[in-house]
Amino acid sequence: MRAIERRIKLRCATLAWTLDIPLRQRVAVFHYTAYVSFMILPQANRLTPEQLAEVIAIVTEFGCNIQPIVGTVRTIYAILGDERDELMINRLEGLDYIDRIDRIQSPFKLMDRRSDLASHRIEVGGVTLGQELFVIAGQCTIDPKNPNYFYETAAAVKEAGAHALRGGVWKPRSNPYSFQGDAKSLDILMEASRRTGLPVDAEVMDEEQLNLALDAGVAVLQVGARNALNYSLLRAIGRAVAGRNVAVLLKRSLHMGPISEFISAAEYIVSFGNPNVILCPRGTAPTLDGYRNHPDESITPLLKEKTWAPVVVDPSHSVGKASYVPACALAAVAYGADGLCVEAHVSPNHGIGDDPKQAVTPDVLAGLIAQARQLWTMRGPIKGK
Ligand code: PEP
Ligand code: MN
Repeated sequence: MRAIERRIKLRCATLAWTLDIPLRQRVAVFHYTAYVSFMILPQANRLTPEQLAEVIAIVTEFGCNIQPIVGTVRTIYAILGDERDELMINRLEGLDYIDRIDRIQSPFKLMDRRSDLASHRIEVGGVTLGQELFVIAGQCTIDPKNPNYFYETAAAVKEAGAHALRGGVWKPRSNPYSFQGDAKSLDILMEASRRTGLPVDAEVMDEEQLNLALDAGVAVLQVGARNALNYSLLRAIGRAVAGRNVAVLLKRSLHMGPISEFISAAEYIVSFGNPNVILCPRGTAPTLDGYRNHPDESITPLLKEKTWAPVVVDPSHSVGKASYVPACALAAVAYGADGLCVEAHVSPNHGIGDDPKQAVTPDVLAGLIAQARQLWTMRGPIKGK
């Protein structure tokens, strides 16, 4: 083990030297790439409280801690801290209820497709992501003054074939004078969920909204493009959803650089105990002339090669115009997306927020879903490498 690590470190250090990187960054490269993580896999699907207490007692002796990551079928246990002490690992491996300790060399040990979470499946509204095309649809923004539009939209998106209903309650608006959303819309969202039986997706931007959404029973918490780099929010969401059957739809920020920055944001959430994280490309900067953003559904195969997480593409914010949305949605499916998150409204002209520009009507949504399903069937599930 130590010998392998020494070899990795040497290779990274040599590379940093060859590239003529300044000394401080050479040290960073050295530590970053040589990072090896350990995960405990029990024989059974999870440890009993007594077994967990024994495992915690052992790692505590070595200054480490345990984070259980609760999957639908099995729970794995990440060791947090400086986990490389061979004596600690030997003692853990010696416990008869431990199957093995897996070592992963990756900056995102839990999101990595070699992680033991790779067999984890996320289920929303009766659909297991990856097994059929998963569709979230609904209004960008719920208008609290006109709840009937939302109820009609909810029924129409269900009829069109969506599995989950989206509805913006609190809105991140670039302009501080634009409508910022209204907590009252949460009641409208939940009422639409009761009427249709669809699980709901809503964006939360702070801990207060997070707690209100969880208490109300929101099934998919959306982290928007503006907050995808808000690490304290990611941590708070991770903590709040640990062990719950709640999913997190993590949008890609416009300001993310390398793909690893997106994956690491997801790692924040998962590392607090809930692996139900869905990656959502939604267009990035700089804008492609004529579109709202630069469509980025093409990063899907890359995400699927590096991680095990399902990818649900948002074509609406990507292109920003209703007439372009079906093409972008189909492109996303061709690239291997597991699902789509589409803004739809029964009467876009009467909508607020992005709806007048971006929302497709229910008949367009129904056509888009039917074509996307055909393409999905032709394409089959994409498992990465
Ligand atoms: C939205 O989903 O309405 C939204 C604001 O999305 P994004 O965070 O991707 O801009
Ligand atoms: Mn929107």
